[in-house]
Amino acid sequence: LPLLIGGFVAAGVVMLAGGWLAWAQAGAWKRAAEQVSFANQVSHELRTPLTNLMLNADLAIDDAARGGRSVSPRLGVMREEMERLSRIVENVLIFSRGRHRTRQLREVDLVAPLGEVVEGFRFPLARKDMSLSWERPDTCHVATDPEAVGRIVVNLLSNAEKYAGAGSAVRVRLAQVQGRLRLEVADDGPGIPAGQERRVFRPFVRGGSSTREGVSGTGLGLAISRSLAGELGGRLMMVSAARGACFRLEIPLAERRAG
Ligand code: ADP
Repeated sequence: LPLLIGGFVAAGVVMLAGGWLAWAQAGAWKRAAEQVSFANQVSHELRTPLTNLMLNADLAIDDAARGGRSVSPRLGVMREEMERLSRIVENVLIFSRGRHRTRQLREVDLVAPLGEVVEGFRFPLARKDMSLSWERPDTCHVATDPEAVGRIVVNLLSNAEKYAGAGSAVRVRLAQVQGRLRLEVADDGPGIPAGQERRVFRPFVRGGSSTREGVSGTGLGLAISRSLAGELGGRLMMVSAARGACFRLEIPLAERRAG
């Protein structure tokens, strides 16, 4: 009989513990879902005023240029900071929408839209005495979502700007190699230390150098970029380079559906 009672008590304890665990886990999932939805709403609210701010800053810069007046460099710095804020908001929005959305792929020539993204970094990089080279073919047709490719390039270039350090060289290269679109963003900064190459692609993971040197960030850029590459039926990887960091996006030219 004591054995039987002992058995019942043990079974009861196990069931209680299991129930509590399931309840705690359900609670944790609910909390996480609430946080993600909150982040989504906040970033949505931030988007409109931020877009208006950028638009007005651009108009002020254009007005001054048309009137032959010089613009205060402070306005340029403010415009850059707005851009940075907008990148954070967009990344949080993409992250909070969840992974593996179906993307509308369409046949486009990526040279002009990507050129615009790359040129957008010329001034901020030059201010840090960093050079920028943009190598591309005359045309590059692929069935893709140019906005998603642009977002990946923005994230990679903004990392090069943040981590490569003053005076370094940044290179963006677009090419078609063996039926694939290949887009590389490389810099000759300190690069990613051995052993961290996989970790840095995880959400919210930031490399040692970023925290040590006080570079701000959310740890979402590479995770989102890799997930976007997957939605485009391609992949984003780090490739080894003699110096610095080199990231490569590959998308099959013929593939029309995301994998
Ligand atoms: P964040 O920049 O917000 O930290 P990311 O996901 O874009 O988030 O990058 C993750 C980490 O990868 C960074 O914290 C940094 O340590 C490292 N990293 C990314 N790009 C580079 C680069 N070009 N050079 C050196 N380290 C980099």
